[in-house]
Amino acid sequence: MSRATIIACTNQKGGTGKTTTCENLGIGLANEGKKVLLVDADPQASLTIALGFDRPDRLPVTLSGLLERTAAEEEISAGEGILHHAEGIDLVPSDISLSGLEVSLVNEMSRETVLRRYLGTVKRKYDFILIDGMPSLGMLTINTLAAADKVIVPVQAQYLPAKGLEQLLHTVSRVKHQINPGLKIGGVLLTMTDSRTNLSREISTLIRDTYGGKIKVFDTEIPRSVRAAEISSEGVSIFRHDPNGKVAEAYRSLTKEVLAQAAREKRRKLEQSL
Ligand code: ADP
Ligand code: MG
Repeated sequence: MSRATIIACTNQKGGTGKTTTCENLGIGLANEGKKVLLVDADPQASLTIALGFDRPDRLPVTLSGLLERTAAEEEISAGEGILHHAEGIDLVPSDISLSGLEVSLVNEMSRETVLRRYLGTVKRKYDFILIDGMPSLGMLTINTLAAADKVIVPVQAQYLPAKGLEQLLHTVSRVKHQINPGLKIGGVLLTMTDSRTNLSREISTLIRDTYGGKIKVFDTEIPRSVRAAEISSEGVSIFRHDPNGKVAEAYRSLTKEVLAQAAREKRRKLEQSL
């Protein structure tokens, strides 16, 4: 039976391409034959809506209820609340009630690991679980980092992200030391790049020069395209919406990089156990 690799798409800045990356990397992995669960951990529910569930407030079960019941140690039946999408992935949806969860977790014991405990009940069924994070460094993001094996950090190549990136890396290393020693940075992913503008090229070069030695920066860059922006309301991935376009090609290439990285890590673990 497989044990999922859990990947968090995290950046405390909004609009960096987290949701778009979660959706298209997730479906990209499913297209390669992997069993994939996407988890919408943002109260704004953009991922849930992008996948075609456009009234998340009407869903009977969403992540917040599942986490509340996990915290209360109530039984959750197999597959409860998990939705299926036509492109071969499963989804734990979100809705606005997740925004109240941070408050209700305050008095819980081990409140940083509620998401990890919930995912522990489903992860045997999947090869990959991708968590779409919210734009903050609050308790939900800590839960996301505590549950993850690795973090992918989408960075929009249009603004200088330096300061925010430092803060995020600091949070990742704190969670690693205090809660989740196995946590790794999968890589920084440059999104919405535009090879025609100097600024975009300069930021790409700057990030690779500044961080490239310390942490992985994915070779793949996701180009800016209106075709990518269109899918947030279409209910389908870029592979259905514009299969021959440059963004679909980029997400296919990112999928291959992530699979190659996972294969390398598996080999390394095997070698260490010999
Ligand atoms: P986040 O989840 O980090 O807030 P999103 O994935 O929602 O970021 O992307 C922010 C906005 O940019 C959305 O409106 C989305 O449709 C758009 N977008 C995402 N990726 C691209 C892209 N490659 N080209 C153009 N627009 C994009
Ligand atoms: Mg988002």
